[in-house]
Amino acid sequence: MIQEADAILITAGAGIGVDSGLADFRGNEGLWKAYPPLKKAGYKFTQVESGYLFNKNPKLAWGFYGHRLNLYRKIEPHHGFQLLYDLVKAKNNNYFIFTSNIDGHFQKAGFDTTKIYEIHGSIEYLQCINNCNNKIFDNYLKTVDVDMETLCTNDIPYCKSCYKVIVPNILFFGGTVFNEKRVKEQNKRFLQWLSDVQNLKVVILEIGAGNTVPTIRDFNDSYSRRYENFNLIRINPLENEVVNIGDIGIKGKALDIVGKIIP
Ligand SMILES: [Zn+2]
Repeated sequence: MIQEADAILITAGAGIGVDSGLADFRGNEGLWKAYPPLKKAGYKFTQVESGYLFNKNPKLAWGFYGHRLNLYRKIEPHHGFQLLYDLVKAKNNNYFIFTSNIDGHFQKAGFDTTKIYEIHGSIEYLQCINNCNNKIFDNYLKTVDVDMETLCTNDIPYCKSCYKVIVPNILFFGGTVFNEKRVKEQNKRFLQWLSDVQNLKVVILEIGAGNTVPTIRDFNDSYSRRYENFNLIRINPLENEVVNIGDIGIKGKALDIVGKIIP
């Protein structure tokens, strides 16, 4: 399937980062295991993934996101990213990346920034929590100094216009006014690419996109079902089942399987 493809759609969730050393929380238990202070403070997955925490406790919110920012920048994307990069190069760079990850690791691995759609936004960009000035800017924080006992920080950025807290330009589960500008531009390019490849053979490589927030999976299932020229290969260590005839589900971790299936 990969050999015969003219173009590649790489789609990825948190599971792709596990082999780089990043956490895939998979709900409350995973989150609390990675961040015990959040368990102690009684915060659930849905609360820390929303603007709620930035309103309620900006020190803890920026401690949590600051720690992740430091980590994303420190850690290098694993070798599987390089293999994917080589693959799309062999397909004359006819590819797109569709990811729910906010870590900027596809950019870091060298993929073309104009061929990436980060549906949940990116931690490498910031905005006012209320989007008061309708601005997105580069994340200027160099490192965030986090006390790992409490997961709190005093490095909290504030909006120069309205003095409210600055947050990452991420699609939170409520509690912020998301500035969609950047993601909308990416989406526009993605839709254009999908239209460009409508007469080509396309393989969707889905890597580590679970059922917790199934946006990526649902898109892939529906595209593969609706369009004959799209075929899906789903790579996941737990949730590798596929729903369409002809699609392939492979049980396993990102780096291992990518290393085995790329010709
Ligand atoms: Zn503001």
